Amino acid sequence: MILDGKAVSEKRLELLKEEIEESGLYPRLATIIVGEDPGSKLYVRMKHRACERVGIGSVGIELPEDASTERVLEAVTRLNNDPDINGILVQLPLPSRIDTTRVIDAVAPGKDVDGFHPCNLGRLLAGNPVFAPCTPQGIMTILEEYKIPTAGQRAVVVGRSIDVGRPMAVLLLNADATVTICHSKTKNLEDEMRSADILISAVGRAKFVGPEMVKEGATVIDVGINYDEQGKLCGDVDFDAVKERAGAITPVPGGVGPMTIATLMENTFRAAKLRTCYNNTAP
Ligand code: NAP
Repeated sequence: MILDGKAVSEKRLELLKEEIEESGLYPRLATIIVGEDPGSKLYVRMKHRACERVGIGSVGIELPEDASTERVLEAVTRLNNDPDINGILVQLPLPSRIDTTRVIDAVAPGKDVDGFHPCNLGRLLAGNPVFAPCTPQGIMTILEEYKIPTAGQRAVVVGRSIDVGRPMAVLLLNADATVTICHSKTKNLEDEMRSADILISAVGRAKFVGPEMVKEGATVIDVGINYDEQGKLCGDVDFDAVKERAGAITPVPGGVGPMTIATLMENTFRAAKLRTCYNNTAP
């Protein structure tokens, strides 16, 4: 079974559009981008387009490549204090000069629709999330939409980044899976991966996952965004070979990627709904 993230995201965006209309709210998302990276600019444009589609207002703040950490913090503070803004998204990665941790920590937790603030990550870890990071939350939505059970299943997450691997593992744990997190120092990686009923690859290497690493019938979720030798977009998984062995698999493109944006829209609407009951001030 091909897990069609594009179709699921389309369905979720349509539902969200109706919910927003019915709510009478006008949620608003602000994005901050620093520098001219074409990939980052493309992602931000896609997020603004999705906002327009579902009835979320959006404003974009563009800072120059040489902007200081202080300048980015100033922009964040202005948005924290703007009552018309419900969600703040700082497009990552920031240029290496900028203190990314300080910037993430400065976003008001109630507007942190990316779910990276320690307050939101802590709530997720405690099993009581408000905003979970969009990519792993989007993966949970795909699993739910296709009725792939998680309770009691063995899930293996390869990758331990703060935006994907770690929150993914916690979301699966909160959904009663038995979770293993693997990374570059993991011993017997292939054995670990082959034990998975649900295998999530968030490594960032083309053709990293071959069929010999996949249990027959497993669900394989490919988070990777890579380019092959021909410059063609591909994931971490050797899709053609692994699809013969997997029970269900996400393609790249058209799998996890569209779900990330749909989840960002859902988080922004939730921020608009919660604004009166979540502490909106930065710590
Ligand atoms: P990251 O911060 O670079 O993390 C990569 C992880 O992979 C690290 O934990 C690393 O281990 C692990 N790793 C690297 N080589 C390995 C190996 N040989 N064996 C086992 N583990 C290995 O990347 P990320 O932000 O999590 O992103 C991962 C991929 O997902 C990238 O391709 C990124 O573009 C993509 N992505 C896609 C979306 C989407 O919406 N589809 C969103 C976010 C990211 P160590 O910690 O030990 O170094």
